[in-house]
Amino acid sequence: MHLMPTRQSAERPAASVMPPPYPGEYPKIVVSPPGPKARAWNARDQKVVSQNLTPDYELVVERASGMVVEDLDGNRYLDFAAGISTVSTGHCHPEVVRAIQQQAERLIHICYTDFHYPAYIELCETLAQLAPMSGKKRVFLSNSGAEAVETSIKLARIRTGRQKIVAFYGAFHGRTLGTLTLTASKPVHRLACGPVLPEVYHTHFSYCYRCPVNRKPESCDVQCLDLLTDSMFQHTVPPQEVAAVLIEPVQGEGGFIPPHPEFLPRLQALCREHGILLIADEVQCGMGRTGKLFASEHFGLDPDIFILAKGIASGMPISAVIARDDVMKWNDGSHGSTFGGNPLSCQAALVTLRLLRGGLIENAGRVGAGLLKRLRGLMDRHALLGDVRGIGLMIGIEIVRDRDTREPAAALRDRIVRRAFERGLLTLPCGKSTIRLSPPLVCSDSDADKAVSILDEVLTEIRAEG
Ligand code: PLP
Repeated sequence: MHLMPTRQSAERPAASVMPPPYPGEYPKIVVSPPGPKARAWNARDQKVVSQNLTPDYELVVERASGMVVEDLDGNRYLDFAAGISTVSTGHCHPEVVRAIQQQAERLIHICYTDFHYPAYIELCETLAQLAPMSGKKRVFLSNSGAEAVETSIKLARIRTGRQKIVAFYGAFHGRTLGTLTLTASKPVHRLACGPVLPEVYHTHFSYCYRCPVNRKPESCDVQCLDLLTDSMFQHTVPPQEVAAVLIEPVQGEGGFIPPHPEFLPRLQALCREHGILLIADEVQCGMGRTGKLFASEHFGLDPDIFILAKGIASGMPISAVIARDDVMKWNDGSHGSTFGGNPLSCQAALVTLRLLRGGLIENAGRVGAGLLKRLRGLMDRHALLGDVRGIGLMIGIEIVRDRDTREPAAALRDRIVRRAFERGLLTLPCGKSTIRLSPPLVCSDSDADKAVSILDEVLTEIRAEG
């Protein structure tokens, strides 16, 4: 007998790509966090660990599986942070774990700069085949997002013989000395570090909720791009000297901001007109998070260089630069990396890509659309929510003091993130006053519902406190 698929089975990804169900209730707080064990480890951290980063809350992790993170004191959290958008297939997906274990028994390191192995080549073949970029492509593998960004800048300068790079306010491209010049999300990143890289210029991103040229939707014709063409190119930066424009197709750290639909296509046309290379930094927004493998696909972009990291290998360190064949041209021996594309990370990436394409990308798009709708529904009851925006499972909630003035409310945002943590929901801040929701792409409707309920409770509590 032919059985019609049930609505549930037609919509959910095949069981084989989903991790096994978590064997217990979650989230579940048994000791008010941080519990005694977490506090003890945090005290040790403070004595010896470089204190360059202040964690958003004092979570000390024992283990994690799928959507669930367990702390040392026995609390279980629903993870809507995913190690900053990184564990795309959920924590410790059994197939990813198996691929790493099997590779570890055969070869851990040999250094691709000197010797070759199949996993590196297979991953480059797969990425080259999948990247939405016209023509023949080549791929270089490295370890981190920042390393890949630096690679792309070197390439663009070598390829064009030009020096200048244009990036965007609010962007995050890394914290190494070169990339922090391109990053423009918070001044603290470059405080006392200068001089930074010369010949880097910033212009405004298409941030419609806080339009840089004060347009209302009805009078918008993407005039934010005029700041590049009429201001920068007319006054200070001759476009014929610009090697590359570097952009996150959906801004991440800057506030989870999808641009106006016309912004990126017009930017691409401008780049073509002036012979400028377009570099799409998809470190945070790529790898299925937006409901397409590459976020650029939503905007019909055909960039010259793609940068990937974070979600590409479910938490194993690896990054990739994908460039058109005529762009990926090096002077022999001019670039390399000891650990870049190590065999364990390549295997994790190959499995991750298979799982993403096997249903998790679609899942991100479907669950994300439902989550966005439910979160927007909260706006009727919670005036603190100024804007709820996003694509797929990349959703930002901007917290404001007043809906009319749109005054950012960073302290309130931090309180919401903290209270959500105390109730068992992990989220992260971004932008001036935005909460970022970026769960693993195995997130189910029921996980999304739990997250919305916790945020609703927290917002209600904060409203009652006045
Ligand atoms: N580019 C983007 C868009 C990022 O979000 C990040 C990190 O958050 C980076 C680059 C830097 O990546 P990494 O921290 O792996 O160096």
